[in-house]
Amino acid sequence: MKLNENYKNLAESYLFSNIAHKVAAYQAAHPDKKILRLGIGDVTLPLAPAVIEAMHKAVDEMSKKESFRGYGPEQGYDFLRESIRGYYARRGISLDLSEIFVSDGAKSDCGNILDIFDTANTVLVPDPVYPVYVDTNVMAGRKIVYMNATAENGFLPMPDESVAADIIYLCSPNNPTGAAYTAAQLREWVDYARRRGAVILYDAAYESFACEGVARSIYEVEGAKDCAIELCSFSKTAGFTGTRCGYTVVPQALVFGGMSCNKLWLRRQTTKFNGVSYIVQRGAAAVFTEEGEAQIRANLDVYRKNAAIIAGTMDKLGIFYTGGKNSPYIWLQCPNGMKSWDFFDLLLNEVQVVGTPGSGFGKNGEGFFRLTAFGSEETTREACGRIEKLLRAKQ
Ligand code: PLP
Repeated sequence: MKLNENYKNLAESYLFSNIAHKVAAYQAAHPDKKILRLGIGDVTLPLAPAVIEAMHKAVDEMSKKESFRGYGPEQGYDFLRESIRGYYARRGISLDLSEIFVSDGAKSDCGNILDIFDTANTVLVPDPVYPVYVDTNVMAGRKIVYMNATAENGFLPMPDESVAADIIYLCSPNNPTGAAYTAAQLREWVDYARRRGAVILYDAAYESFACEGVARSIYEVEGAKDCAIELCSFSKTAGFTGTRCGYTVVPQALVFGGMSCNKLWLRRQTTKFNGVSYIVQRGAAAVFTEEGEAQIRANLDVYRKNAAIIAGTMDKLGIFYTGGKNSPYIWLQCPNGMKSWDFFDLLLNEVQVVGTPGSGFGKNGEGFFRLTAFGSEETTREACGRIEKLLRAKQ
């Protein structure tokens, strides 16, 4: 018996454990200091009342013989897939029900979707990157090529004809940079992928934050159904990080070497996955009701306001950043040429604010720092006030 030796090639991820360790050590040494966390990528507001109500109702259904549900369809219940189809239709994108697959979240699907692709494919990922794209491919032994996301290209790398990629990851609005592609920019990616016969894995986990003329779905671009899979999540849209629900769109038009991606994914899911719980899917469907949408919009507005507060602080300080407008993330250049971890230490030690060092997301993240808008308004305002005071004193 031999284990999968590709696991030996995984880089250790010290980012979040290092942060936790440093924060715990600081708090132990300074028990009287109030630490403000602007580093978390998790939501803080509870599930919307409409979601909770739908889940309660579903729980009651499970308690009665007549309405009890056992195994559900692996691809998700039709009531939820119809709601998702309606959500796309309202944005002018028409999907067939068979193209929508409900899952337990975008992270799982990011990894699982790779089952349908050959391990000899070359993978193109941005740097900095959501580490899941890299690690899931390292585990399978695929070759990874990085494209530089830098201040020069606004952290939005565009296709390079000299790069031979088979599987392309695009995440927009982006984690960690908050940068978001316009439909015109995505058109260039779609054209490149179609010319190459490559597939785009489009991570739209943050689409609900997109506004101001940026794309919310890759299918806004004509021809994208020939070359792109879209991964979505209720996590950041509706606070499902702990509840777990997402969906993946695999168009019927996506065919390579005479094989249908949709058929392969259906086969993969029906073989290895037994679906998301009925209760959770009822909760997810409530996200698309009039009432649910209004409540979720109100929650998103809280995070958007926080993002605007952080972005406004950077504007006042004249610090370069991306994100904040179409994203809960603000990706800022550390002042005075500081390195990411040095800036982390400065904020923690001087003003007790915790963020995420950009270098943890790839080499191009060095010198950058991620702040998130998922805290409360009060915490965000207080943290921004402290940062502003500290950096003004250093200007
Ligand atoms: N994709 C990106 C870019 C993310 O940042 C995250 C979570 O932080 C996910 C996917 C995971 O989403 P889910 O909670 O649906 O697994």
